[in-house]
Amino acid sequence: MTDFSAEQKRYLEGMAAGMAVMKSVAGAGPGPAAQPAPSGPDALHLVAQDKVLAGGQKLADQEKWKRAEHPLDAYARLKIDADAGKAPNPQDNFRWRYHGLFWVAPAQTSYMARLRIPNGILNHWQFAGVADLAEKFGGGYVHVTTRANLQIREIAPESAAPFLEGLSDLGLTARGAGADNIRNVTGSPTAGIDPQELIDARPLARAWHFHILNDRSLIGLPRKFNVSFDGGGRIPALEETNDIGFQAVEVLDGAAVPAGIWMRLALGGISGHRDLARDTGVVVKPADCTAVADAIVRVFIAEADRTNRAKSRLKYVLDRLGFEAFLAEVEAVLGRRLDRVEATQVAPRPPIDRMGHLGVHPQRQAGRVHVGVVVPVGRLSVDQVRGLATIARDLGDGDVRLTVWQNLIMSGVATERAGEVERRLADLGLSAQPTSIRAGLVACTGMTGCKFANAHTKEHALTIADRVEARLALDVPVNIHLTGCPNSCAQHYIGDIGLIGVKVLVGDDGDTVEGYDIVVGGGFAENAAIGRVLWTGVRADAAADHVEALLRAYLAGRGGPAETFQQ
Ligand code: SF4
Repeated sequence: MTDFSAEQKRYLEGMAAGMAVMKSVAGAGPGPAAQPAPSGPDALHLVAQDKVLAGGQKLADQEKWKRAEHPLDAYARLKIDADAGKAPNPQDNFRWRYHGLFWVAPAQTSYMARLRIPNGILNHWQFAGVADLAEKFGGGYVHVTTRANLQIREIAPESAAPFLEGLSDLGLTARGAGADNIRNVTGSPTAGIDPQELIDARPLARAWHFHILNDRSLIGLPRKFNVSFDGGGRIPALEETNDIGFQAVEVLDGAAVPAGIWMRLALGGISGHRDLARDTGVVVKPADCTAVADAIVRVFIAEADRTNRAKSRLKYVLDRLGFEAFLAEVEAVLGRRLDRVEATQVAPRPPIDRMGHLGVHPQRQAGRVHVGVVVPVGRLSVDQVRGLATIARDLGDGDVRLTVWQNLIMSGVATERAGEVERRLADLGLSAQPTSIRAGLVACTGMTGCKFANAHTKEHALTIADRVEARLALDVPVNIHLTGCPNSCAQHYIGDIGLIGVKVLVGDDGDTVEGYDIVVGGGFAENAAIGRVLWTGVRADAAADHVEALLRAYLAGRGGPAETFQQ
């Protein structure tokens, strides 16, 4: 009947028993008539929804839509409508997102498709195949996203299903890439090739990716959910911005667990809500990460708010219960205690290299380098994608590694052929040599393709970069993140400088223009911090002036290049 473990069944039975008590107390109150406790892989969700109804509260619309028809069961019906060229209604737009498709009208009257690429790594023929699909069914270009993923836009309704099925032919999927699901699993982009990493996190990210995809009870959560695995290498995975962040650490002698490499557990990251994941003190054996993450998600399913979408992320469960009570529930699902260590019993994370994702760098494998390619604001034409795939095939190990900085890395290049890679990149109009600005220039889709956007983020990001590069000589990397709305897809709060799109009133008649609130002092990895708002309501045509002024003030006021923007 179910695929739950014995511990999970006990937990579910406990919740169902509690539910029966609530129903007997409620009698003929506002909740539905008593029903047998739900069972099967959707039971956790149904029990949680029933609890809301029994309490006389209203489910959020999305919860009602999930209850009316499970989105995974809607594919055939959605496909028939799409084949007929029909735009989806709001409910079906939500359901399509379980399959990775987003109807993005009015910004564009078409679908955007978001893939799933565990650890952001795919091989050259998959990358070239995505270009073919983007050309045949989409707008002829590809976006690299801030979850080390790919998005294809301008997919007509009748091309929706052929696109998804073409992905399957490539051994790729978009399932669960949108809506209330566990999003693309990120990890260290140089996993397995990084000279300083503590662990190759690729198997952990892949194990979790396939675990999610093959367990229906983990599809359709109260809200979206992010998980990341950082192997302790030179390039961070930004795990602190995830609901669950696993970070490889070296536990020292004298701790309550054997010394060695463990995965430190941080919980509750959601930078758009101004919170980074906090260390729980828990360390997990690498082989146990999937089981622990599974238990955490099941507690989230049971405890999260199903009435208010703004408060339904893990952070708010942790705020309400407290970390220790939440972890006690996780332990109940797991059926065992989690291991804990003191912060002083863990060696500091090895240092990061903020420019390490771009340019030529030696691998841990002798005679091999990886080459990081600058992808301006994450956009590539299909010809560039095919060209990059060919370089990876001919001169690399065949892998293409996408980064959360919207760039990509080709690995396994023979040291003596790095120059050839760079020449071939130039032929494609690309480069491996970043400027201090473009290495950390991140922009969400913006008004060109997102209905939530208040500004043309990608276009403004390039204007800012052109302006600053022409007028300032920066000798340190500075992250500038532009995000179009509070959804924070470009994580403006962790940029040295963050810009969040707003509508700016001009004159007295209610007219508005594109603009930004400007945030400073955010950071990541060892400098992890949430930025603070410095200016509000800056017109977009003045944004470059403000960024330039900030950078000039930094250069004039710092003690030297070692002094970061935050300091
Ligand atoms: Fe759209 Fe807002 Fe996300 Fe930008 S941050 S892509 S505007 S939802």
